[in-house]
Amino acid sequence: MDNSTYKNKKINVIYNNDKESSNTSNLLKQKLTDRGYEVTKEYDNEAILNICVGGDGSFLTAVHQYSFPEIPFVGINTGHLGFFQEISPTNLDEFLDKLDSKDYIVDSLYLVEALVCTRNSCINLIGVNEIVVKGIESRVIHLNISIDNTYLERFSGDGVIVSTPMGSTAYNFSAGGSIVYTTLDVLQLTPLSPINSKVYRSLTTSSIVPSDMEIQIAPEYRDENSLLITVDGNQHRYENITHIIFKLSNMTINLLNIGKKDFWSNVRDKFL
Ligand code: NAP
Repeated sequence: MDNSTYKNKKINVIYNNDKESSNTSNLLKQKLTDRGYEVTKEYDNEAILNICVGGDGSFLTAVHQYSFPEIPFVGINTGHLGFFQEISPTNLDEFLDKLDSKDYIVDSLYLVEALVCTRNSCINLIGVNEIVVKGIESRVIHLNISIDNTYLERFSGDGVIVSTPMGSTAYNFSAGGSIVYTTLDVLQLTPLSPINSKVYRSLTTSSIVPSDMEIQIAPEYRDENSLLITVDGNQHRYENITHIIFKLSNMTINLLNIGKKDFWSNVRDKFL
């Protein structure tokens, strides 16, 4: 089978500004053109594939910048951690052969959604890796946490991370959370420096929450104006936050899996 089996041959190539990413994307664009694909000049919503050249960070930026497109992503890793960037710049031809022959599967990745409610309105946020609730200016915050409307704990500490399975290997992992296989439809609630003393008592380990349950977080009155919400590394500030409801989003994003490496070998190779 050749690439004529694709109805359209448009491909978006999205890349970092560093030298290696820019060199790799120039080479890639040439190879794609030689194989009869059309490399778009600007991001095109009709393209069949988004190829992201850089690291996981550039993939995250692209997903947000293009508003969680249905077009599948695949990543070429140019010298970053690249946990989800499957392809090495030295294996472009092998990747393009697989693309031509459609020798891949498309994985759907779960996203986390937060409804942030203030005294005036509610705002919806969506994260690929995680949504973090922290105190501004390194303040300790006090949060009343419920799961599926059952009160769980009064958390005191730096904050909490609510991560997707994909994000489980990112900030969540550094904070002592568990690695979760990407196809499991769960969220993970991970404490950041929980305080445990005679005054405060907080869970010290992360909790895995199934997809049909919501996580509700309500700051104590004195912390309503002290919260910083970070979505995949991007900070948001709102005044008078009364509560935040987290759930697994109905939306997903698609990632091309060319089967180069299985998830657990990737964990071993990137972290050990
Ligand atoms: P960034 O520099 O873009 O990312 C920080 C590191 O996290 C990079 O090495 C990045 O890989 C890696 N990374 C991102 N997503 C990953 C994933 N799903 N699995 C494994 N590693 C992943 O930092 P940023 O712009 O502030 O925020 C982006 C992400 O960084 C956030 O979503 C958060 O998960 C993570 N972060 C981690 C910490 C921490 O570990 N203490 C603190 C803040 C944020 P590449 O090198 O391939 O880009």
